[in-house]
Amino acid sequence: MNTQKKERIVVKVGSSLVTNNGEGLDHAAIAKWAEQIASLLSAGHEVLMVSSGAIAEGMQRLGWTKRPQDIHQLQAAAAVGQMGLVQVYESCFAHFNLRSAQILLTNADLAHAERNANAKATLDTLLKLGVVPIINENDTVVTDEIKFGDNDSLAALVSNLIHADLLVILTDQGGLFTADPRQDASATLLTDAIAGDPALEKMAGGAASELSKGGMLTKVLAAKIAAQTGAATVIASGHEPNVLTRLLDGEKIGTCLTAA
Ligand code: GLU
Repeated sequence: MNTQKKERIVVKVGSSLVTNNGEGLDHAAIAKWAEQIASLLSAGHEVLMVSSGAIAEGMQRLGWTKRPQDIHQLQAAAAVGQMGLVQVYESCFAHFNLRSAQILLTNADLAHAERNANAKATLDTLLKLGVVPIINENDTVVTDEIKFGDNDSLAALVSNLIHADLLVILTDQGGLFTADPRQDASATLLTDAIAGDPALEKMAGGAASELSKGGMLTKVLAAKIAAQTGAATVIASGHEPNVLTRLLDGEKIGTCLTAA
């Protein structure tokens, strides 16, 4: 990464990270990302977040221990949980004298020319104002991410929309491994690859957890989408101390998938 350049960065955090594996919103983790983002903004970078966690938090608030099958129950949980999610982001960023903003989007919004233009203009305006947009899928009106992606593809489409330089996908794994490290002890971390290389999709084929629907495959596919507008994607552990500031300082952490 070019450390001198002012980067436009999309940071995506998944449900299991944001909710400490479903045990409730992890204020401490969110506060640490907010602190790092505050320091990136002071250095002149622009940062947006794409955060999942609404359904996981909604399940917690509704006292559901098992993820329901019924799509409308999931949408209801997302509506309940989104309240808690934005409360925590608001208070964590306020601690660093930063404003945050809630943006709920769908893939269909981004495919619609006028909505796409409006979303882009709003995000550009928020970034100019130094506000940190917190984006989630509008789960009330669609089912795509609930079913498939846990926001990985939404984060990639947002990267395309705002012509991001970098998409950072924070997850509970250290990056993309040559095999599923939970099942195969010989798995090694892949540090660099070209986004869109079909071999990556084979490597990433493992199952997702109860909370994070995406797994690695949707992250690898997201990197391919982000690369269409030239963004590099880093898949790294959200538990890694100062992961965002260290990455922007040029340190290699996790897996970096660059545009061909
Ligand atoms: N947008 C959803 C959320 O915030 C996607 C994640 C999921 O399906 O659990 O929870």
